[in-house]
Amino acid sequence: MCSTPAQAVAKIQSAQAITFLTGAGVSTASGIPDYRSLNGVYHDLEAPEYLLSRDCLEAEPKKFYDFVLRLYHPKAQPNVIHQKIAELEKTKSVWTVSQNIDGLHQKAGSRHLVNFHGSLYHCQCRKCGKSVPCQEYLKSDRHAGCGGQLRPEIVLYGEGFSQSVLDQAVTAVAQGDLIVIVGTSFQVHPFCDLIHYAATDQIMAINQTALSLPVPFDMVQCSGEEVFSLL
Ligand SMILES: [Zn+2]
Repeated sequence: MCSTPAQAVAKIQSAQAITFLTGAGVSTASGIPDYRSLNGVYHDLEAPEYLLSRDCLEAEPKKFYDFVLRLYHPKAQPNVIHQKIAELEKTKSVWTVSQNIDGLHQKAGSRHLVNFHGSLYHCQCRKCGKSVPCQEYLKSDRHAGCGGQLRPEIVLYGEGFSQSVLDQAVTAVAQGDLIVIVGTSFQVHPFCDLIHYAATDQIMAINQTALSLPVPFDMVQCSGEEVFSLL
């Protein structure tokens, strides 16, 4: 089934418990490119699948650090999608599970948030385990305190997911009487498997390109901004 942006807005407004599943398309209007597309931009680099892997972090720390620095956009601001989702939290039971590591849902004020792949803005020392402000990591990947290697708390290729994040995400999906997938082609595992935990048949996808899902859903083929600016 296909719906217009106006129909999508009406559904969002009438739902009481909404779970948003968001991806890179939610942040493009804030000027943040999907790192998978950096392939084309920085064609001299190796594949992001290697550069963002546990192997690269350990074997070629400088290469890892140089690449990760390109993912930071500390001045980027939330756009209408992040803002409206955060606003909906005030009047409805809203949860957001995001694949994005850019911290923008948090910046917009979302509290019921699961950063499924972690956040670039939470950094930690691999040696002593201390959390450090990301400003420190942006200056050096060595911990001033102990000389250990710093890293952002994002899920790298070759790393597993923590059980607590998986549990939170499953709980968030199960609570929705409306599930709204926004700005993602919804093909990355295990994120896309979350749809199997939906306890509702009200599932909607808002994306520029049409999705294919293993469950019946309502396709709203347009940008997220188009829908959320009408809310
Ligand atoms: Zn340390």
